[in-house]
Amino acid sequence: MEGSYDIAIVGGGIVGLATARELSMRHASLKVAVFEKEPELAAHQTGHNSGVIHSGIYYKPGSFKAKLCVEGKRMLWQFCEQKEIPYKSVGKLIVATNEAEVTRLQDVYQRGLANDAEAGFQLIGPEQIKEIEPNCVGLQAVHSPKTGIIDYGRVSRAYADDAKGNGAEIFTGAEVEGIRRDGGTNVLSTKRGDFSAKYVVSCAGLYADRVARMTGSEPSPKIVPFRGDYYVMKPGRSDIVKGNIYPVPDPAFPFLGVHFTPRMNGEMWLGPNAVLAFAREGYTFFKVNPRDLAETLSYGGFWKLAAKYPQIGYTEMYRDLSKRAFVAECRRFVPSLTADDVVKGPAGVRAQALDESGAMVDDFVFSGSQGVIHVRNAPSPAATSSMAIGKYISEYAVKEFAIA
Ligand SMILES: Cc1cc2nc3c(=O)[nH]c(=O)nc-3n(C[C@H](O)[C@H](O)[C@H](O)COP(=O)(O)OP(=O)(O)OC[C@H]3O[C@@H](n4cnc5c(N)ncnc54)[C@H](O)[C@@H]3O)c2cc1C
Repeated sequence: MEGSYDIAIVGGGIVGLATARELSMRHASLKVAVFEKEPELAAHQTGHNSGVIHSGIYYKPGSFKAKLCVEGKRMLWQFCEQKEIPYKSVGKLIVATNEAEVTRLQDVYQRGLANDAEAGFQLIGPEQIKEIEPNCVGLQAVHSPKTGIIDYGRVSRAYADDAKGNGAEIFTGAEVEGIRRDGGTNVLSTKRGDFSAKYVVSCAGLYADRVARMTGSEPSPKIVPFRGDYYVMKPGRSDIVKGNIYPVPDPAFPFLGVHFTPRMNGEMWLGPNAVLAFAREGYTFFKVNPRDLAETLSYGGFWKLAAKYPQIGYTEMYRDLSKRAFVAECRRFVPSLTADDVVKGPAGVRAQALDESGAMVDDFVFSGSQGVIHVRNAPSPAATSSMAIGKYISEYAVKEFAIA
């Protein structure tokens, strides 16, 4: 055995690291270790996202997403002030461009009010939209002045530093390949040898379901990977938009839609779309992982989803392959944008839990049994919510693991 711990955390993304930080801070006497398969931390969703500090507007009041996003953004602001990690409150408009969207926007506004009526949060008309974003058109918009941007990779590394400062150990290049019960403990077989841990917390993102299966947990919900590509505005054109501009989300679809997002380095990104990825870590259209693809295609829930939303599937796939179609979607909000203004940018892959009925699981999902807690669904806004998720899991661990 290479080492023995009280709690092993699988996954060195923002959720695993926030959890390691919180557990090691609250329980100084417990030995905590993080096992990350990549050579670097935050290599997947955490390092490939829009970098938005969400305000908690969209989510069903009372849901984990609503509660943990609002609590998480406040914790994050405070943490960044303490650690001098830069972030910017650039604001956000959620813009309705037709009557159907105006109707849906009222629900978004009401949810925003119910979740956190922040100062300046309001419904505005076309003239006010122009005052905030001179190149943006719309019939009506929700304005959230405090929505921010940040580099979540940097935040994650600061969580890791705190966790290490509290005595936690972090192993990179340590893929967990199997977990078995041995007497009262768990043995984790990793690429760096076997480790034992009384308790396990899995925060494995795109592999959440596979790690769950290693511990004998339910195979469902299954993770289906959805890639999102970004375009980057060329230098000299990025100032046609100042802050975040988002569409009114489709309630049938858990993704927020293609949006304009400023980056901490001064760039302006457009995206992400949402297309089925043929590999869980497939950052291009052509990356195929036969095992990942076979798992998706042999899952009944996937085919039920595909039957429910064929139109969305085709449209997104077309937009993925056609720059003009992608830009046309963005031009609904900023008509002066042209295809020449943007170049292909990076991509991210979302870990989206899908249940057997073909429903995309909307809320965060945590489950625990036999000394293991699993984070089974932590899509957006889990980066914003990360500190609150870490706190929630630590409280869950006190009950589930009976630790003092
Ligand atoms: C395109 C995109 C845009 C997004 N935009 C935003 C946004 O603007 N704001 C926001 O709040 N959220 C956003 N999100 C969501 C956010 O990025 C995720 O919710 C968050 O990063 C999830 O963190 P995580 O730690 O659960 O997952 P990850 O960051 O994916 O980390 C999981 C880690 O587990 C590791 N792992 C997996 N299996 C094993 C194993 N067997 N052994 C060891 N390690 C393993 C992986 O290598 C990985 O590092 C976005 C996501 C995407 C993809």
